Amino acid sequence: MPDSNFAERSEEQDVEYIFGIVGIPVTEIAIAAQQLGIKYIGMRNEQAACYAASAIGYLTSRPGVCLVVSGPGLIHALGGMANANMNCWPLLVIGGSSERNQETMGAFQEFPQVEACRLYTKFSARPSSIEAIPFVIEKAVRSSIYGRPGACYVDIPADFVNLQVNVNSIKYMERCMSPPISMAETSAVCTAASVIRNAKQPLLIIGKGAAYAHAEESIKKLVEQYKLPFLPTPMGKGVVPDNHPYCVGAARSRALQFADVIVLFGARLNWILHFGLPPRYQPDVKFIQVDICAEELGNNVKPAVTLLGNIHAVTKQLLEELDKTPWQYPPESKWWKTLREKMKSNEAASKELASKKSLPMNYYTVFYHVQEQLPRDCFVVSEGANTMDIGRTVLQNYLPRHRLDAGTFGTMGVGLGFAIAAAVVAKDRSPGQWIICVEGDSAFGFSGMEVETICRYNLPIILLVVNNNGIYQGFDTDTWKEMLKFQDATAVVPPMCLLPNSHYEQVMTAFGGKGYFVQTPEELQKSLRQSLADTTKPSLINIMIEPQATRKAQDFHWLTRSNM
Ligand code: ADP
Ligand code: MG
Repeated sequence: MPDSNFAERSEEQDVEYIFGIVGIPVTEIAIAAQQLGIKYIGMRNEQAACYAASAIGYLTSRPGVCLVVSGPGLIHALGGMANANMNCWPLLVIGGSSERNQETMGAFQEFPQVEACRLYTKFSARPSSIEAIPFVIEKAVRSSIYGRPGACYVDIPADFVNLQVNVNSIKYMERCMSPPISMAETSAVCTAASVIRNAKQPLLIIGKGAAYAHAEESIKKLVEQYKLPFLPTPMGKGVVPDNHPYCVGAARSRALQFADVIVLFGARLNWILHFGLPPRYQPDVKFIQVDICAEELGNNVKPAVTLLGNIHAVTKQLLEELDKTPWQYPPESKWWKTLREKMKSNEAASKELASKKSLPMNYYTVFYHVQEQLPRDCFVVSEGANTMDIGRTVLQNYLPRHRLDAGTFGTMGVGLGFAIAAAVVAKDRSPGQWIICVEGDSAFGFSGMEVETICRYNLPIILLVVNNNGIYQGFDTDTWKEMLKFQDATAVVPPMCLLPNSHYEQVMTAFGGKGYFVQTPEELQKSLRQSLADTTKPSLINIMIEPQATRKAQDFHWLTRSNM
């Protein structure tokens, strides 16, 4: 049976999870997959399903599958494919498509799917026959994890699904091996070690590439053995714990601005790192780039040294080289002093904001209370503007690959899909782990119906909706009423406003989970305690904050956008 053929090929390639929405012509594939022991998670929108499948790739190093129907189903998944590709995460999308003998006739949900996916993937193909399916699936899985990881697409015409074939005519493919480990050129490693040794103000930047590469052990050793300051990128958080004494996250701008040597471990010099250019960096800063993708090396700056290879392997090479001559970056240096002072003053400023007793609460008050109760081993998923940016500075990660957020593409709507993926992985591999999903009220709206998915599978997720009645900022109820007194809402409601005082927690109670509407620190503490204590149900805590609340004053006037 070909429908089980797709499923078998996926299972053969170590695919553990399929996320999707069934319909013509893929329903049988989902059923066959489940019969083979692949877990199937039915979602409410293909976009969220695709975000979930992509997070599986990041968390497990093997691609998650997103299974979608033809035409619109596949189109909805494009957002997830683009996001996976931008994040360099492996993903396999399998899309049903219209019957081959009706092509160009205006068939049901007909669309040029293979072509459409090319822009969003590393590999996009339709098997030429049923016999070719194992070959194409293996190639798609391999392409998704070899080299720079990314999204792949395999197209399944409807007439394949119910065709009968002789199983003996199918040539099975062996499981594609994990990617070969590549190492950097020895001479480049020597040069890099000497540049690091001669640095006056060194900085290591740990990106999500380092997390994906499972380089935590070697990077931690590098940090500790040589006493080097490090800065994680948003999803690089946790590769070395955020509370490590050498983490300079709280002095981010200062560290970037004055470092004279920066080693990039799996982090691109894109908008998140201000392109590596002045005024956020010294004009003559020496970059050492470690990346698996040769095309990445030299983007936006001329690096002092490039180390092409797997981050874990290359870091071990660096350690070996540095070990040859006893050396350590002096802990009493002026650089450390500058960084420590800045961290202290930044932390004090956040703490002061957090201690404000006025109501409604501000972001800092909310996040400090959340941080107090956050289990050490939990996953933190986050999206939203201020919610994500401020949350990132307060909420700590202690484990690698335990933070998932809007990422390189700055995508809103990823949160619930990511949380669902993290939850199914956690349930299988480390039961008892919580997924804390911190959402802005606007971000929550993008995929809000996935709360039903969370309740259907009873996943260990606590959703925190940090509610300011809007996108960036909103209005309080009185202003809202005043505004609508004489005029039509479409004429006067500012585009960033959402309905004030929305009871998002009722979305959770509608499906049998627990919902809390909180307005004070005490209510927040209590609802969190109760949510964490009850492992039998997911919760949603709707946290009302000051609609005009913002982040603390920044040193640079241009620091107004995300990640700055
Ligand atoms: P961040 O957003 O954390 O700064 P980026 O997504 O910009 O991270 O960068 C991640 C980088 O990591 C990409 O350039 C990617 O090619 C690289 N990468 C991914 N996997 C590996 C690996 N196993 N070894 C080395 N580099 C990797
Ligand atoms: Mg908001």
